[in-house]
Amino acid sequence: MWSKAVTRKSLLAIAVASFISVADAALAWPRGCISALPKSSTRRVAWTVDDGASTSALGRYVSMLEKNPSVKITFFVLSGAPSWTKYAARLKALQDNGQIQLANHTASHRKLTALSDARIIAELNSCENFCLAKFGMTTKPYFRPPYGEIDDRVIRVAASIGFTKPILWYGSFSSGSGVASSTVLKAASKWIANGRIVIDHANGYCTTNVFPQILQLFRSRKLKLVTLREAIDPQ
Ligand SMILES: [Zn+2]
Repeated sequence: MWSKAVTRKSLLAIAVASFISVADAALAWPRGCISALPKSSTRRVAWTVDDGASTSALGRYVSMLEKNPSVKITFFVLSGAPSWTKYAARLKALQDNGQIQLANHTASHRKLTALSDARIIAELNSCENFCLAKFGMTTKPYFRPPYGEIDDRVIRVAASIGFTKPILWYGSFSSGSGVASSTVLKAASKWIANGRIVIDHANGYCTTNVFPQILQLFRSRKLKLVTLREAIDPQ
């Protein structure tokens, strides 16, 4: 399995690749992709955090969330990264009180557009089964394709097993490995706005080192943080 084969080097490759491939704003995503929240009378934004290639960085997100109950995050779980197992109990507690959502970012971070239909299904199901076992809740129907690489075939194949909501983004914190916190802060300031889905990565400390400033951006702009599920599929 990928999780056994994972090495520090391969996680670093994910972190770097995520940074290189992540465009700032909405690209020309195929029809059916979601990159913004539905319109609402509430000023709101979705902070989404991918990968968890750095276990210690993910730990900082968990601790920050535990100290700040009004902060909400949707995590896109890369189930092959050991961080999600290490923090499973604390993540489950945050999930169960509605503060976080755990969504699907596949098992091993392959470009889905380069995989066969069967392997796309295997990647999504493997992450789904991991999350069901660790957190007791489905990731469906939300998934984010690694590197934002998606096409009509991937959308169709994912939908065939219940992943009907491909989540992309509008605005990136540029939070790759080796990025300066000042760069993250500048990007966050540029993109945090009403109705946005912004993308961040738990692959290093570049965001965690400026958590107070990031939280202040949400506060000063009078934006409520919401999970994707509560914004897109309210009960
Ligand atoms: Zn990723």
